Amino acid sequence: MKMPHILLIYTGGTIGMIRDFNSGTLRSFNFDELLKHIPELNLLDCTIETQSLAAPIDSSNMTPEIWVQLAHLIEENYNHFDGFVILHGSDTMSYSASALSFMLEGLIKPVIFTGSQLPIGDLRTDAKENLITAIQIAAMREADQMLVQEVCVYFEYKLYRGNRTTKINAEHFQAFASFNYPSLAESGVNLAFNKTALFRSLGRELRVQTKMHARIALIKLFPGMTQEVFEQMLLVPRLEGVILETFGSGNVPNRSWLNSALENTIAKGVPVVSVTQCSGGSVQLGMYETSEALVDMGVISGFDMTTETALAKMAYLLGEGKKGPEFKQAYESPLRGEITKN
Ligand code: ASP
Repeated sequence: MKMPHILLIYTGGTIGMIRDFNSGTLRSFNFDELLKHIPELNLLDCTIETQSLAAPIDSSNMTPEIWVQLAHLIEENYNHFDGFVILHGSDTMSYSASALSFMLEGLIKPVIFTGSQLPIGDLRTDAKENLITAIQIAAMREADQMLVQEVCVYFEYKLYRGNRTTKINAEHFQAFASFNYPSLAESGVNLAFNKTALFRSLGRELRVQTKMHARIALIKLFPGMTQEVFEQMLLVPRLEGVILETFGSGNVPNRSWLNSALENTIAKGVPVVSVTQCSGGSVQLGMYETSEALVDMGVISGFDMTTETALAKMAYLLGEGKKGPEFKQAYESPLRGEITKN
């Protein structure tokens, strides 16, 4: 059998920087010279090709347009490669992994995002382990299929479902967590996979959706939020969707102005989704009196989705042209393993 062929895509972020020993500053690293800088990659049981964004970015500058570029890159190269590794800054990696998970429907090959907290040229770097293991995972086969067939994040010895991750630490090597779904694999002396947790799509044909509508308001409620601020956020012209970060299991203050503002928004055909501000657990609309009104007015439940995924899923379903009950039905269904639902 031929060695797996992996496409390594560099988008930017700390991982792609090296420290200039004279000045101490960080500068971007020429990815064409990757194998020269990390000779360990030559020891892997796979062949690697690299591609870089024309202008690599700090991931704080990530945009839906770049998600589209990445999705096209994977689509164009899908038949020539067995797996994809995307090097990405950690700051918005969870958003990008969530977005790509929706945009790449019917995926049966691995797309592994990774990055690092320290540049690849730093003595104490976490980049080498992250990069090498991410490539190894992307190259793993079982029978005649790729073992991983979904969009993941690999960071600090753990493989996660990408759309379940959140960046939790700006300093520790363990920068990500997946509070509502177990990790898919752990790297120790061996790579231990949690095989029953791996996602398998129903379709086997890759379908790439590249319309992501981002005219979305993300509103985090807080005690004392004023009527004026709340109402103004919902009055943005051409608003297409609202994600409300609510308290606990989906609760909001019992205020008539808040209910009216939401009702008016929904009446205009703008979907409103509730996700919890908690790191773990799920929205359960109607569990308390403080969320009953939301059920009556047709607020959509984000269940145990992360905020990052809630946003990406909304952008994706709006891009698919879904409206009204069809939007709600699709939104509340698990499409890529992003919701825990019995
Ligand atoms: N600011 C950087 C980025 O997200 C941090 C990192 O690379 O982890 O691009």
